[in-house]
Amino acid sequence: MSYQLVWLRTDLRVADNPALYKAMSQGPTLALYLVTPEQWKVHQDSPNKLEFWRLSLIRLAEQLQQLKVPLLVRCVPRWVDVAEHLIQLCQQYSVQTLHFNDEYGVNEQRRDQDVQQRLSALGISCHSYLDQVFFAPGTLLTQTGRAIQVYSAFRNQCHARLLHHLPKPLPRPKAQQPVGIPPDQIPERFSEVEAISLSDWPMGESAAHSLLELFVSEHLAQYAKARDFPAQTGTSRLSPYLTAGVLSVRQCVQAALSLTHGHFDTQHSGFITWVDELLWREFYRHILHAYPRLSRGYAFKPETEALLWRQAPEDLAAWQQGRTGFPIVDAAMRCLKATGWLHNRLRMIVAMFLSKNLLIDWRVGEQWFMQHLLDGDLAQNNGGWQWSASTGTDAVPYFRLFNPITQSEKFDPQGDFIRRWVPELAHVSAQKIHNPATLGGLFGISGYPRPILDLAQSRKRALQAFKSLSSHQTEPS
Ligand SMILES: Cc1cc2nc3c(=O)[nH]c(=O)nc-3n(C[C@H](O)[C@H](O)[C@H](O)COP(=O)(O)OP(=O)(O)OC[C@H]3O[C@@H](n4cnc5c(N)ncnc54)[C@H](O)[C@@H]3O)c2cc1C
Repeated sequence: MSYQLVWLRTDLRVADNPALYKAMSQGPTLALYLVTPEQWKVHQDSPNKLEFWRLSLIRLAEQLQQLKVPLLVRCVPRWVDVAEHLIQLCQQYSVQTLHFNDEYGVNEQRRDQDVQQRLSALGISCHSYLDQVFFAPGTLLTQTGRAIQVYSAFRNQCHARLLHHLPKPLPRPKAQQPVGIPPDQIPERFSEVEAISLSDWPMGESAAHSLLELFVSEHLAQYAKARDFPAQTGTSRLSPYLTAGVLSVRQCVQAALSLTHGHFDTQHSGFITWVDELLWREFYRHILHAYPRLSRGYAFKPETEALLWRQAPEDLAAWQQGRTGFPIVDAAMRCLKATGWLHNRLRMIVAMFLSKNLLIDWRVGEQWFMQHLLDGDLAQNNGGWQWSASTGTDAVPYFRLFNPITQSEKFDPQGDFIRRWVPELAHVSAQKIHNPATLGGLFGISGYPRPILDLAQSRKRALQAFKSLSSHQTEPS
């Protein structure tokens, strides 16, 4: 018997999985997952994310078992060896066609091209499918045929197209006849480094759909207002599921449509604002694809490569460990380390604090995030860091620095988030908690550090550093 082979990567689900759906429609199918520990290390993928993927894969294996699709799990430490391994596997199981969903990093694309070329040379066809995004990167362009660099223009083009045609999720495939090949065991760990406990994150596709439905029914209506307050359940917290592909973006929008009676063309602010966030995700994937230098660690704005970043190991350690003396920054950094997840508002605050107030290279922060996040994703993490550091496309202007104290007063007004993560400040009033240095006293608050910098001076230093770049001469108004 000959087989279709579906190679699963960041698409750990059976419903609305184009590669799986197509493979199963063409004949008896085997599924494959490659454990690639050396490559994951190169990409700084966090042990937390790898454990999230592993647990998701266990749930996926159960789903595949119901479809009678055996899941093969093989270890190929580095991607350069993937093509060779796939050739052997295809020959062993008489595979006619390999199916996979597209991924957009430079290494991912190089790996897939290598696989396609080498398998095609042996007469094995390869089919790849659009999955992670609504529109294939490279198909949304300016009038002069270039990649769109401004989010609002990108978003408007997406909206116009989605209004015309909204891609619907594919159904879960029907079970096939048993093929008599036993599934492989899933390894007990994907990383040598121990992950944090993931007991707060229900695993698997049906759990993810329950979370999505709960978010849509309970929180989406208020999303536009509540999404900036980290102490509230204002956002979906679905990013780890989207990054692992346990959920698809089409499923998210489909679920959200229940709030608007199925209308994409709506004035509902919760719906529109949430879809716009999903389109930021889409935007950064298109940008990553159009500018391969981003995958290689370069800034989007080449002139910012000349910035004189500070080498300040002690300041960096204070930021990483949540001991800067700025409560909102410290609460956020401790939360990231303990849970592997961080609210978007806090990601922006701490990223700007590192890259502007501390004037430490954004790449150092980008790496720290990747090493801890459950949802670490090159396109979005790079996009978010370069936005905050004003080195990216459509980034915040260089002269805009978030003041961590006023941000804290505005977005954690009662100090609830701070108290949860900085117990040293649990007894401090809502009025004083954002800036405990004002409490005075010779030694400050017992156990809590004094601010490691003067905000006004650090702002001045950042502005000078940016102004010294030739193309950043425009004065703030
Ligand atoms: C410095 C920095 C680093 C970031 N790193 C990552 C990362 O590695 N992985 C990641 O998934 N997101 C990243 N983001 C984007 C954003 O912070 C998270 O997607 C969001 O906090 C996830 O929470 P949620 O699922 O509750 O989002 P919701 O508010 O419910 O939004 C729904 C989905 O839209 C997408 N989304 C939301 N906001 C953004 C955004 N600003 N940019 C791009 N996509 C967005 C996410 O997929 C998210 O799950 C980063 C942002 C910044 C500022």
